[in-house]
Amino acid sequence: MPIQVQSLSLLGALQAMTVALMLWLGVRSDKSRMVRSLYLRASALAVEALGYASLAFGQHLPPAAITLGGNALNLLAQAMSVIALRMLLGVPLRWRSVIAVGVVGWGGVAWFAVVDPDYQSRVLWGSVAIACNLLLNIEALLGDRRDHGSRARYVLLWIFVLSLLLLVWRNGMLWLTGRQLLDVYAPSPINVFWMLMSIMQPLFYGLGFVLLYNELLQRELYVMARTDPLTGVPNRLALEERFAGMLVASEVARVPFCLLLLDVDHFKSVNDRFGHDCGDEALKALMQRVGAALPPESMIGRLGGEEFIVLVPAAGRRDGEALAEWIREAVMDGPVVIDGRSLPLTISVGVAEVESYERDMSSTLRRADKALYVAKHGGRNRVVTAPANAADRLQVI
Ligand code: GH3
Ligand code: MG
Ligand code: MG
Repeated sequence: MPIQVQSLSLLGALQAMTVALMLWLGVRSDKSRMVRSLYLRASALAVEALGYASLAFGQHLPPAAITLGGNALNLLAQAMSVIALRMLLGVPLRWRSVIAVGVVGWGGVAWFAVVDPDYQSRVLWGSVAIACNLLLNIEALLGDRRDHGSRARYVLLWIFVLSLLLLVWRNGMLWLTGRQLLDVYAPSPINVFWMLMSIMQPLFYGLGFVLLYNELLQRELYVMARTDPLTGVPNRLALEERFAGMLVASEVARVPFCLLLLDVDHFKSVNDRFGHDCGDEALKALMQRVGAALPPESMIGRLGGEEFIVLVPAAGRRDGEALAEWIREAVMDGPVVIDGRSLPLTISVGVAEVESYERDMSSTLRRADKALYVAKHGGRNRVVTAPANAADRLQVI
């Protein structure tokens, strides 16, 4: 079956434009970095579609015009794709490298199209520019070491590595077969296979980009759903999940763990005297202070209002109590200063060691809350530990 490069180019243009339209129309526009990156990727696909269209209909134009115009569109589309991917990943955009690759790449292609016409050298020069862009993409994907478990990244990495191999194959074949081909239209299996693979790339890369976008969006939502927006510490959902994990770990290792319930003393009067905004800032400052005083393996989170929970792994009742005392003293260690105003804050803490019969955080929390109640009624700014047996008398230190 005879396959023409022009027909394949037309197919490539239609595919790239279809994916571009789907991305443009299928995602609600907003100003977020991730959505902007998706729109830029869609625009790159549209430019790529124009490049393929120019190849499909360009036989009536002077060959040099097609080479210069088609390659300009292709390199522009690539530059936009590189920026879009880096924008999506939140890594440095590297504008200078991207522009340098585009300008030098196009300049070389122009040289071998107009000044010293030579198809093989032109392809080689253009391929080096494409390879540089692919390497910029690969570097961006490998750059963030925290995300090595990401599947979408592996999909994209494979697409880029296969694209690199395709470039090597094309150039290798052109140099092996000698200087027989005049241009990309020349009917040859090399040109046809190259164009066939090339027009699949907008589909593969577009799909890979959407997979990555979706994965990053899910991760962002996951973190958002577990973070307290005011203080930035984990929220109740995150605390409950961590508690469940600690419960399993403590049963396996047969070591106890503790829950500390912190409540700011007379916080309502802070709001009343200094205003709600100042109260908000005080809560943020308090979290920074307490966070700095905590051992790294423990976790602090906001239960709600001005109540916070600290989960302390591998800690018995006495260890929890000692840590609570340490935190209480850290909070008292000088006033929190907000907008030049000094707020002397204190906290009361209820400590509870998790009992073997407790299956979720709420029952331990209930005991810690009772201990906190005793601390408040004992005069505040103190630590009270819930007894092992709820019937025991609460002990105030
Ligand atoms: P104590 O715990 O010592 O008994 O007194 P309190 O005044 O801290 O206790 P209470 O629970 O009566 O009041 C808690 C106050 O915390 C009520 C509310 O105004 C304030 N509060 C809760 N959440 C926020 C918040 O997100 N920002 C600000 N600024 N205030 C908050
Ligand atoms: Mg309270
Ligand atoms: Mg309070």
